[in-house]
Amino acid sequence: MPEVTTVDPATGEVLATYPGSDVDGVLSVLTAVSDAQPAWAARPVEERAELVRAIGAQLRTQAADLAALMTAEMGKPIGEARAEVEKSATACDYYAEHGTAFLAPRSVDTGPNQRSWVAHEPIGVVLAVMPWNFPYWQVLRFAAPTLLAGNTAILKHSPNVTGCALAIEQVFRDAGLPDDVFRSVVVAEADVPEVSRALIEDDRVAAVSLTGSERAGASVAEAAGRVIKKSLLELGGSDPFVVLADADLDLAVAGAVKSRFINSGQSCLAAKRFVVHTSVAAEFGRRFAETVAGLRVGDPRDEATVIGPLARADLREGLTRQVAGSVAAGATVLTGGAALEGPGAFFAPTVLAGVTLDMPVMAEETFGPVAAVVEVADDDEAVRVANATRYGLGASVWSTDPEHALAVGRRITSGALFVNAVVASDPRLPFGGTKRSGYGRELGEAGALEFTNARTYVVG
Ligand code: NDP
Repeated sequence: MPEVTTVDPATGEVLATYPGSDVDGVLSVLTAVSDAQPAWAARPVEERAELVRAIGAQLRTQAADLAALMTAEMGKPIGEARAEVEKSATACDYYAEHGTAFLAPRSVDTGPNQRSWVAHEPIGVVLAVMPWNFPYWQVLRFAAPTLLAGNTAILKHSPNVTGCALAIEQVFRDAGLPDDVFRSVVVAEADVPEVSRALIEDDRVAAVSLTGSERAGASVAEAAGRVIKKSLLELGGSDPFVVLADADLDLAVAGAVKSRFINSGQSCLAAKRFVVHTSVAAEFGRRFAETVAGLRVGDPRDEATVIGPLARADLREGLTRQVAGSVAAGATVLTGGAALEGPGAFFAPTVLAGVTLDMPVMAEETFGPVAAVVEVADDDEAVRVANATRYGLGASVWSTDPEHALAVGRRITSGALFVNAVVASDPRLPFGGTKRSGYGRELGEAGALEFTNARTYVVG
């Protein structure tokens, strides 16, 4: 049976080895999760909401251990790791508080019928395929509303965060969730396509939610489409961060650093392309690079560290190729520009200027601490450059005149537009993409209803 081995990306040392499941093993988990669903759905929604609240409480109780495990497995600086556990708990609080109202039947007057209404009913078992970059948050923002709606779920997490995947299962158990309402399966990478296809094709799986790369999303959506099942895809992003001529540069530079370098640059909704009006481009680039050069890189267990390693050595290789290719094509390195020596998967926080649309750092998603700055002559060119990407997750526009920023931002295609603020997910607001960033919405009321059957009732 293939095994899954986790590695500390800060040191290259092996952390643990886990037995992987094959198709038969995963299908026996599916039997349990499918059998558990009717009883879970039959519980009053208020009871399910209390259990979701209890999951949030458990996350807080176990925050220190959960954060340390995440830091060991994927290198997130420890302060950010604790913040992620807390944010995951807030998603539980939010759905425990508001989920019952979101799911309540809505009456619609269709006279001469006596009564008619729409109910939001569970659909069954939902498969979640999740990535390593926010190992708890990505899972909890899926699980809290999906379970609350009366579904049960199977999690297939990224192999490098297998400890986190099993810890989440334990948190749910500790919170008092009935057996088999939520199960993690451990699958070695080589077996993932076969196992996920077998799950998706099984009649007992109703839908699939995937957060990850375009490649993985296309594969899962294709399998789901063939058997007419719903999929939700939250894929990559290459968000534009548009600095207009009238922007407050102090605010914009602080926002740029936060947006690009959170999670050591490994976030789908990070700003990746900095589209800056020519009148402020030199000053913006200088201040941005100066701040970035001062970010402390190092041991993610150290409270003072701001930038940890990338989550895997192969991710650093990909980033090195993108940066080297862009520099060879004429980009200027304002700071950083290369991988750092040593056993860990560290990459120097980097700002590139003089970037053009054909360079890899503009044409592809960069998943690491690399910012690409491109100069534009006016608002029309800013919109053209901002839209010159296959992705459409978030966008931010910076200007001292919010109406000006909104007018520019409305012309950019994205799932979210932020003005003078860093794009971030928030349990209260729907989150999701356009174009190759995917489809469907998580979080907010929309997220509560994604994996439900909006069922029409009519009494004539
Ligand atoms: P992947 O998309 O490969 O991994 C995400 C999840 O999808 C993992 O659980 C993975 O499992 C699974 N997966 C991959 N292929 C398939 C498949 N054919 N069928 C079913 N599940 C599959 O991302 P990587 O870790 O390789 O990262 C590569 C790039 O993806 C990043 O550089 C970034 O651009 C993007 N990404 C985007 C994220 C986001 O938040 N939107 C998150 C993570 C990555 P397994 O690893 O076992 O194959």
